[in-house]
Amino acid sequence: MQRFAGKTVLVTGGGYGIGRAVALRFASEGASVGVLDLDQQRANETVKLAATSGRAAHAVRTDVSDSADVNRAVQEVSAKLGPIDVLVSNAGIRYVRKVLETTDEEWNRTLSVNLTGMFYVSRAVAPQMLARGGGKIVIVGSMSGLIGQSGRAAYGATKAGTLQLTRSLAVELGPTINVNAVAPGYIAGTGMMVEVDKDTKTVNWMIGSTPVHRAGTPEDVAGAVAFLASDDASFITGATLLVDGGFSAARYMPAGLF
Ligand code: NAD
Repeated sequence: MQRFAGKTVLVTGGGYGIGRAVALRFASEGASVGVLDLDQQRANETVKLAATSGRAAHAVRTDVSDSADVNRAVQEVSAKLGPIDVLVSNAGIRYVRKVLETTDEEWNRTLSVNLTGMFYVSRAVAPQMLARGGGKIVIVGSMSGLIGQSGRAAYGATKAGTLQLTRSLAVELGPTINVNAVAPGYIAGTGMMVEVDKDTKTVNWMIGSTPVHRAGTPEDVAGAVAFLASDDASFITGATLLVDGGFSAARYMPAGLF
């Protein structure tokens, strides 16, 4: 499929994990890809991989929690690759901390990257979409923004915030721009999941609690993001698409209960 031929897609946090898979998915479907990431080296690697699809790609080292940095990066990508048709707001961080153990610094950094960063990037990109009469924004939330989990206080609060930001943007930017979110469950093999992936007990419990009986992959999320950015999703806006293998739908009752 070449659903995005001639389009320009901007992916934040595109240097690794889900963001890289998203960037490569759009490149494989014909798009030019702008990769914004705090880690310049990883962003450059994504650009190299995208080039194997024969697509133009450009990396800019950016901290999404810094609005001036975001504005400059959006200008640079638009100048290099053309006006942005699709924004995938994906950059995020996570500290696994219980509420009472979370420091001021961890709380504030999580908010400024995961939530304020998504606001800055949307605010920087949407005006050019409005001026051109169309565009798609996909926000990467999390199932942690929908269910309670231990050790996810700051993270879950920001992810719930991104889902509400999605709805507000959809209302204000419609009918010109469709704004939707994906809410991934356990996606193995990313930077954020390094410690989880190593912990067999956690992995087995997660997989055992997931109706499809496997961990998700970055490519699973990329497929859902590409769908939401495609014309097939033109009547969908303000929605959150769970990409969690059914984890949050499932409540297994232990054997032996009546
Ligand atoms: P990852 O660590 O592999 O990728 C995150 C990327 O964001 C990295 O390349 C990192 O350098 C970049 N980044 C971090 N802070 C940044 C900043 N301030 N400015 C710009 N870039 C920054 O993690 P991932 O698992 O691929 O996470 C991507 C998104 O998916 C995050 O928003 C995360 O919350 C969400 N998510 C992941 C999972 C999962 O299980 N992996 C589940 C639900 C949601």
